[in-house]
Amino acid sequence: MTVKFLDLHKVNERFRAQFDARFKQILDDGWYIRGKQDALFEKNFAAYVGSKYCVGVANGLDALNLIIKAYGFGPGDEIIVPANTYIASILAITQNGCTPVLVEPDMQTYNINPDLIESQITPRTKAVMAVHLYGQAVPMQKIWELAEKHHFKVIEDAAQAHGAMYRGRRTGNLGDAAGFSFYPGKNLGCLGDGGCVTTNDEALAAKIRALANYGSDRKYHNLYKGVNSRLDEIQAAVLDVKLPYLDADNARRREIAAFYLKNIKNPLITLPQTYDEAAHVWHIFAVQTPKRDELQAYLKERGVETLIHYPTPPHKQPAYEEWNALSYPLSERIHREELSLPISPVMTDEEVQKVVEAVNAF
Ligand SMILES: *Cc1c(COP(=O)(O)O)cnc(C)c1O
Repeated sequence: MTVKFLDLHKVNERFRAQFDARFKQILDDGWYIRGKQDALFEKNFAAYVGSKYCVGVANGLDALNLIIKAYGFGPGDEIIVPANTYIASILAITQNGCTPVLVEPDMQTYNINPDLIESQITPRTKAVMAVHLYGQAVPMQKIWELAEKHHFKVIEDAAQAHGAMYRGRRTGNLGDAAGFSFYPGKNLGCLGDGGCVTTNDEALAAKIRALANYGSDRKYHNLYKGVNSRLDEIQAAVLDVKLPYLDADNARRREIAAFYLKNIKNPLITLPQTYDEAAHVWHIFAVQTPKRDELQAYLKERGVETLIHYPTPPHKQPAYEEWNALSYPLSERIHREELSLPISPVMTDEEVQKVVEAVNAF
């Protein structure tokens, strides 16, 4: 039996009866977008995160995009972002006409290195986008201090970090505004596309809610040149059913991560590290090895599926041809050496054991 990287069928099967009950409610109500389910999920997710407001949107990229749009950032404005993030973080910046300023990661956490930020700040710096990559919160203290000193916004990309914490506070409540994705494979995922913005800023939340609905604050009254990016009732209902189980799912991920960290012993492989102030939710268990491609092929032969997050850094993608000549060596090394082992709340102990044995035998 192959150990799947992520068995989404098994993840969602656990909730089938509850989904059915909610789908029946939606069909009975006959209301499909921005209705009761959305309102309920927004309220419950805001309470979970500890933020005052939550606005459901169509996906994680839109969540980030709408935050930048709502702040009015555009051409000439710079946003600092880690070089090794998933490309969506950067697309949200360039889609608004802003300039991403790429910063190298800290090799211990794979997150942006806070000590490298200040030298990149200019009079045009409007925000730092803190991406809680792989499920571990960025150490925020330094970023908060810089934001206060240089008057820029702190935007969180929390798409991989539902439930993660920094100093006991949840991601989504560690900056001025945060974008979440509920893509099926995320720690909290729906049955299609979904996302949300969390913030404590009432005016910002209202503006994003309008921007995501054709710029309209009430029907047929358009304040802004908006877009259509709403969370539909079915996805909101699915998320509301799954939210109460998120902490238990993250606890199971932690258990598996702890087992890997204790039992994987292979001099060729560097294991991921945590730091004391962060509660990691292990969206991805990222190991590093100079023999990455060989390890991946070997594990495949032994029946263990793995993925690479990510094979090519954004600045080396054809889409950003204009940056292809730039060099971010640490980021490039991660992209060359990273391999993601299977980790999910539905893995069995036998599967976890099998992964360890296969990795150790490499
Ligand atoms: C998944 C992801 C996104 C984008 O979310 P979508 O819902 O797929 O648009 C943004 N940033 C990061 C870091 C992600 O992992």
